[in-house]
Amino acid sequence: LFITLEGGDGVGKSTQAQLLEDWLTDAGRAVLRTREPGGTELGEQIREIVLHHRGDIAPRAEALLYAADRAHHIATKVRPALEAGTVVIQDRYLDSSVAYQGAGRVLSGDAIRDLSLWAVEGLLPDVTVLLDLDERQARERLDAAQKRFDRLEAEKAEFHARVRAAYLELAASDPRFIVVDAARDPQSIAAEIRARVEPLLR
Ligand code: C5P
Repeated sequence: LFITLEGGDGVGKSTQAQLLEDWLTDAGRAVLRTREPGGTELGEQIREIVLHHRGDIAPRAEALLYAADRAHHIATKVRPALEAGTVVIQDRYLDSSVAYQGAGRVLSGDAIRDLSLWAVEGLLPDVTVLLDLDERQARERLDAAQKRFDRLEAEKAEFHARVRAAYLELAASDPRFIVVDAARDPQSIAAEIRARVEPLLR
């Protein structure tokens, strides 16, 4: 079972990934919790480049860096885990690229999706949780946690509005998504996610 968490920065993806992991582990499941970009040694190096490179990265180069990270992560870590029957909870996946590199950086969303699917040999999640939050609230949360990234600092509100709209559009056209209002309290969000995942565990 492959579960991905998506949404803008500061919507609470890592909190929900943790709560879901705890619940599955308590239920006796083998769980791999991982994230993108990152998740492997090579991936963490790529993460360092894409998030902290001084100066701009050409949008297509950025898209290829994310795709390279994803290809390696899926091939060496995620796919073997899924084949062993482990439940994989992944913070961000190809929908992040469609939203950020596609809509955010104004590349073709279809091209980004095709590139991502090629990179991962077509692997799609069973469930994708989209944590939806308006961009102003997300920013306030990040400020409170002092968790802003260098890149984010430079990114405009309209960038994040495009990302959010792209996510909602993706979710509206694909039944693998559940859209959760991320302004609610973390425990009730977690319960909503569990209700969706539970039937798939049987
Ligand atoms: O998931 P996390 O918040 O750690 O992501 C780090 C940053 O990477 C985010 O600020 C997001 O803007 C960026 N990102 C991106 N494109 C992706 C994945 C993440 O721009 N495909």
